[in-house]
Amino acid sequence: SKKHGRNRFFWFEHQMESELRFRSQLEAGIRRGLQEGEFEPYYEQQIDVETGKLLGFEMLARWKSPQLGLVNPDVFIPIAEELGVIGEMSEQLIRKALLDAKDWDSSLTLSVNISPVQLRDPWFAQRLLKLLIEGNFPANRLDVEITETCLHENIGVVRSLVTSLRNQGVTVSLDDFGTGYSSLSQLRSLPFDRIKIDRSFVSNLPRDEEGVKIVQAISTLGEGFGLPITAEGIESEEVLDMLRGLGTFKGQGYLYGRPEPSEAIRERLRKLDLL
Ligand code: C2E
Ligand code: CA
Ligand code: CA
Ligand code: CA
Repeated sequence: SKKHGRNRFFWFEHQMESELRFRSQLEAGIRRGLQEGEFEPYYEQQIDVETGKLLGFEMLARWKSPQLGLVNPDVFIPIAEELGVIGEMSEQLIRKALLDAKDWDSSLTLSVNISPVQLRDPWFAQRLLKLLIEGNFPANRLDVEITETCLHENIGVVRSLVTSLRNQGVTVSLDDFGTGYSSLSQLRSLPFDRIKIDRSFVSNLPRDEEGVKIVQAISTLGEGFGLPITAEGIESEEVLDMLRGLGTFKGQGYLYGRPEPSEAIRERLRKLDLL
């Protein structure tokens, strides 16, 4: 059995070693991908749940890696944050997205996700405005999604950032709401334009009784604070019906479609005469 344990130890060591190797390959791949421009915006539709009207798109990052294929952001965003290249990556993606969105009908908005790490950059708002100016893109068509966990950062810093973005005409949404334990006073003290309910509370409605209560509570909260609500993760008509009853404004999810690359979006918009 001692021999057995030794073997297991070697196996474990081997496992660790190959994980480390994979990790450093990922890191090198991401750095190379940034140089080669391999990060691509995909887009998910945002719909008025009442009328079914298309309101805009949320940009979701994808990595087209020559070695790994299409990689999801949950894999590469945390590494980009650790490597300190998230700002650069985000700018690359937003630049492409503004170029895409400029062709869309001017009624359509573009939402982008911003990492808490980026918010620590004191020049973040300036950089974003520079991108808007360079891309000749109207600020009022851009929506910035910051996650609820950002409220754990210095609240004064977050407040002045949100304020300066809104002064420029950009809207700011509080993303993944319900997952980050923010307090009501924090919510009240920040001038957000909108709340996004995380899909973990939405996807299993109406069977998930806790989910129903949480969504009800958040929509009451939104009403109280005068904040419109977006629900993500709508996968069925059943969920949609339930949300309509609660007065949710915007919806996203696989019911409406998966995130798609620019060309597929153009196709969609052409049919709707919105290109
Ligand atoms: P998120 O902002 O909460 O985005 C929603 C995620 O849920 C997306 O995953 C989307 O594809 C997925 N989704 C949408 N509808 C449904 C549905 O009906 N059912 C299910 N099961 N899933 C649905 P994705 O694209 O893998 O993105 C994951 C997360 O990565 C995003 O979560 C966002 O936090 C982050 N992310 C994406 N792009 C960027 C980016 O450019 N910058 C930063 N900092 N983060 C990004
Ligand atoms: Ca988001
Ligand atoms: Ca998120
Ligand atoms: Ca979410």
